[in-house]
Amino acid sequence: MTLQNESGSLESHLNLPKIKFTQLFINGQFLDAVSGKTFVTIDPRNGEVIAKIAEGDKDDVDLAVKAARHAFDNGPWPRLPASERGRIMLKLADLIDQNVEELASLDALDAGKLYRIGLVAEIPAAAENLRYYAGAADKIHGSTLRMAGQLHGYTLLEPIGVVGHIIPWNFPSQMFTMKVAPALAAGCTMVVKPAEQTPLSALFLAHLAKLAGIPDGVLNVVTGYGYSAGAAISSHMDIDKVSFTGSTEVGRLVMQAAAASNLKPVTLELGGKSPFIIFDDVDVDKVVDLAVRAILYNKGEICVAGSRVFVQEGIYDKFLVTLVEKVKSWVVGDPFDPNVHQGPQVDKNQYERVLSYIEIGKKEGATLLAGGKPAASKGYYIEPTIFTDVTDEMTIAKEEIFGPVMSVMKFKTVEEAIKRGNASKYGLAAGVMTNDLNIANTVSRSIRAGIVWINCYLAFSNSLPYGGYKMSGFGRDMGMESLHSYLQLKSVAVPIHNSPWL
Ligand code: ADP
Repeated sequence: MTLQNESGSLESHLNLPKIKFTQLFINGQFLDAVSGKTFVTIDPRNGEVIAKIAEGDKDDVDLAVKAARHAFDNGPWPRLPASERGRIMLKLADLIDQNVEELASLDALDAGKLYRIGLVAEIPAAAENLRYYAGAADKIHGSTLRMAGQLHGYTLLEPIGVVGHIIPWNFPSQMFTMKVAPALAAGCTMVVKPAEQTPLSALFLAHLAKLAGIPDGVLNVVTGYGYSAGAAISSHMDIDKVSFTGSTEVGRLVMQAAAASNLKPVTLELGGKSPFIIFDDVDVDKVVDLAVRAILYNKGEICVAGSRVFVQEGIYDKFLVTLVEKVKSWVVGDPFDPNVHQGPQVDKNQYERVLSYIEIGKKEGATLLAGGKPAASKGYYIEPTIFTDVTDEMTIAKEEIFGPVMSVMKFKTVEEAIKRGNASKYGLAAGVMTNDLNIANTVSRSIRAGIVWINCYLAFSNSLPYGGYKMSGFGRDMGMESLHSYLQLKSVAVPIHNSPWL
């Protein structure tokens, strides 16, 4: 691990954005919060304030829901020809592409994400996500049914109504489009609450949505805290569905609030503790590369992080030697620097949380093979950290750390790998590394997780549904499954008189 830019000397070359939008976006207007309150968003590179942001709470959520309800009940959006909705979404996708530098830099500044990855991968992926659902907008249809008696039956797929999207801070722009795009295609209207750590790109995307021609009231953004603005969304009596991505603890609160209010359906994409299972027959160099990216991508702040690495005994020692070498060349530093692999954790809370898990790992008897400390004297940088001699019962093997911390475990047999891989309350993702087709098939079928990657990891695509088993949640983002979660099915029956066939 090498550290770049401890002195901050790069600052003058960085592509730092100007902050243009700091207010709530309701009914097509940027507005202060009703209370007039603001909160600060912090630069994780140094702990300094980036900007003051309007602090929306229940009153602001009420206004946003009112606007969304009006746009749904009376506005053009759900009534447009679906292809026209698609056309406007394509325009938004083009605007995202035209503003890729600005969006990538807002997320780098707000979340410590790598600017270069935002530029070439994550922001373009957000635009592509919109294009995928824009294309699907006019392909939403039900079925015709053969009913008993002189009856004709059919089903209609209708937009579910006003949607609340509560999103996390680890992929601010991509999460925004991942939630918003299928709901827009379905003809819904919505209120988005970005995480309090990362409000900037959501407000900029709202501005682009207006430029693209999305009618006022269809897409509203309320920035603010989870316990106030977020809770107001999940408990709102006039929101028809909530889609949430975040921690399992908060997912539970969202579901409780939904049940206690108007029984709105919820989609929950929650935590993970994903097994990355490596069998003896692989190319160790290549697999180490993948294992490193599986845990360190986005500084481990990704719910599918391959945090439990199971290595079969025959290659275990070689794997560890190669892993340590690889991690030595992993550069932690300023996320705007193109040579850096890992930026700072998103905020002080997460930084301290990750460091405290590292301490717990040491206390419970795991061996610290690499890293384990802060990686800079200022900012929320943490060294890539590897533990070995980790048992399945240790806290670091059970709880989601959400940071650059890998636990490596040794195993002997396929059965053992499956059993231990499944020994988690979570079931979000898994990786299986082998050239043996039978093992790959057996393990991928046996692992209880919403997504299994064979000889790859973090392979996402708009068409690939994504979500969890067990306490990783339910419902799916991406794919046509996500679109369907913003639709509801109406069955229609009508008598047919004098049909020659009846
Ligand atoms: P993390 O623990 O990874 O920060 P959270 O689950 O706390 O993730 O946050 C994810 C999103 O949920 C954020 O937008 C946050 O503001 C929101 N949130 C937090 N608490 C609540 C709550 N009680 N009700 C609704 N949303 C909440």
